[in-house]
Amino acid sequence: MTNTSANRWHNYYTPKSVAEAVDTLQRYDGQARVVGGGTDLLVEIRRGLHRPVEALVDVSRIPGLDAIDVDGEHIVIGCGVTHSQIIRDARIIEYGTCLSESCGVIGGPQVRNVGTLAGNVAHALPAGDGTIGLLALGGEIEIAAADGTRWIPMQESFRAPGKSFIDRHREVLTRLRFKPTGPGEGSAHHRVMRPQGLCLPIISMAVRLRLEDDDTISNARISMGPVGPVPFLAEAAMEVLVGNIASSELFDKTAEAALASVTLRSSKYRASREYREQMVRTFLPAILNSAADRARGVRT
Ligand SMILES: Cc1cc2nc3c(=O)[nH]c(=O)nc-3n(C[C@H](O)[C@H](O)[C@H](O)COP(=O)(O)OP(=O)(O)OC[C@H]3O[C@@H](n4cnc5c(N)ncnc54)[C@H](O)[C@@H]3O)c2cc1C
Repeated sequence: MTNTSANRWHNYYTPKSVAEAVDTLQRYDGQARVVGGGTDLLVEIRRGLHRPVEALVDVSRIPGLDAIDVDGEHIVIGCGVTHSQIIRDARIIEYGTCLSESCGVIGGPQVRNVGTLAGNVAHALPAGDGTIGLLALGGEIEIAAADGTRWIPMQESFRAPGKSFIDRHREVLTRLRFKPTGPGEGSAHHRVMRPQGLCLPIISMAVRLRLEDDDTISNARISMGPVGPVPFLAEAAMEVLVGNIASSELFDKTAEAALASVTLRSSKYRASREYREQMVRTFLPAILNSAADRARGVRT
């Protein structure tokens, strides 16, 4: 398809396979850009925030990559899968609850109907909501390039705000996957955002917990953003949890450990540092409680 009106790209491709997508990117030798739902990229291109591209390569309609599948021990999400598909999927609601919750707060229905989880991760913003949800689940991503495909832990793809180690002019994030929560496991997400004005998150957090029969936490993951240049895995706070009995006191201590490992900045567009800290103190224990309840089989 040729774009003559806006003239911000000349050609728009809808490849029917990953090989065709990668070949097209190769042919343009860095002058083409991958696009998913376009809810970030097209807005940015129209606002002049990108150097002009010769071509857009739309990977949201590749057959087979527009679905959610179970493959061995993983739930696998194709790069064409939208946030709306994720929040309607019974397997993700049950076994990847924090991902479902995090995709559910993205934009409004129109944005969720076209925006993809792959685009959220590839955009590499420090607080992409789906990104924060998948990071807590221990998500991995598959990248296809001219020399083959590789799976990597998703946190290895983040370089700086909006900058990914995925070369979005030559490589395609084809699939995302995580191990579903099993018996004794639960997860939860919460985002605090200004109700009006600029849609910027004040803090977005997700957790995954595994509890033994006596309530000892045997595994924990906590993701947070924006608390630095890239989506953050709060390892010091995770260490506070593991080996200890789940309790409100422990969850409060975990929030303090999380705060001690980041520097929250005041921002006139988000909130003061003090307010953001208070939101961590309030909502990190709250989602740890929810995840623990879910791990115990309590419906929340
Ligand atoms: C009104 C509005 C509200 C929004 N609200 C939220 C919100 O609450 N929370 C939130 O997190 N986001 C929000 N967003 C941002 C956006 O909708 C999401 O980040 C969305 O998930 C982006 O996905 P996409 O498929 O549209 O990505 P695109 O815009 O198509 O692409 C985004 C970036 O990723 C690259 N890319 C896309 N797919 C791939 C791929 N498969 N392989 C390699 N690179 C790829 C593109 O080159 C580009 O750099 C909002 C956007 C709008 C317009």
